[in-house]
Amino acid sequence: MQGGIAIAGLSPVVIPVFVSNLGCTHRCIFCDQSQFSPPMPPEGVPALVDDFLAHCRRPDERRRILAFYGGSFTGIAPRLLEGYLSVTARLLSEGRIHGAKASTRPDMVSPSILHALGRNGFTELELGIQSMDDAVLAASLRGHSRDDATRACTLVKESGMRLGIQIMPGLPGEDAANFQQTVEEVARLRPDSARIYPVVVLGGTRLEGLFLQGEYRPLTLEEAVSRALYASVVLEGHGCTILRMGLPASPGLRVIAGPFHPAFGFLVRARGYRIMAQRMTDVLGGGCELTVNPRDLPELLGYRRNTLLELSFSYRSDDTLPRGFIRAKSARESACIQLQDILEYIL
Ligand code: SF4
Repeated sequence: MQGGIAIAGLSPVVIPVFVSNLGCTHRCIFCDQSQFSPPMPPEGVPALVDDFLAHCRRPDERRRILAFYGGSFTGIAPRLLEGYLSVTARLLSEGRIHGAKASTRPDMVSPSILHALGRNGFTELELGIQSMDDAVLAASLRGHSRDDATRACTLVKESGMRLGIQIMPGLPGEDAANFQQTVEEVARLRPDSARIYPVVVLGGTRLEGLFLQGEYRPLTLEEAVSRALYASVVLEGHGCTILRMGLPASPGLRVIAGPFHPAFGFLVRARGYRIMAQRMTDVLGGGCELTVNPRDLPELLGYRRNTLLELSFSYRSDDTLPRGFIRAKSARESACIQLQDILEYIL
């Protein structure tokens, strides 16, 4: 029971409130300044919640979470922040929401701010870690260090709130080896959820200037897919839920260059299945039969069925097989593989 109502097995409703760049002390090199529409003021939040829920399916039967995105929430000036916290607490006491979360920078997390968030119904904080390499962070004008990220993650975990993280493969100065190190360090911090956003060059950013001067080379789509796959497999192996991979397509997004793809997350998962399928056909021979959970079948077949076209196998689905596995069978033998088995073949 939550807020006096039974929560059915439906996904939660996440109600986004954009505080557009509020609280940001730095303008990060990749951040698109033109995306910042005026932030939603605290007094506008209740109407936004009502309007959002009016367009949701069965909102009364779902857990409803208010989510402050798009800026550095805990860096917002105290009086304004107090406005957001008290409107959240009011919506919570009225039973209109069941909890709240926010995103912020790692250098703006302290025990006192976490305490204030917890008192006002926040259950999760998402930190823009982006990289755990100080040189990469400096080149990206992030204005915080790896130690800030470690400290902030530890504080969030100790506070009892859920920890979300964001990482960005392809930042200036990053290579496959230091990205791998970032992923392993972040995984050890035990985040509950993660978003993986490969860097794309957006119009209006300082990164666009570097790109146009030939001083920054974005990842290819192929490289970005590999790094995101590596990160997702390692993080999932540590019990972390991947919430999103790749920037969402939106009408205002001005992509100048870089690994943007509207189905980026699918490409990543399909790459994982492609590597597993390749391993199985190498071991058992072409023409073997591959079985996956029905929900994993699109990933096995690949984007536009290209894995099926390139590798020679027959396929079937079996809902008793856990997700993330392939069972393979040839006339003489059978074998099984899971995503965790392919780590060494990804990067
Ligand atoms: S902290 Fe986040 S929102 Fe603020 S400028 Fe950097 S990337 Fe943009």
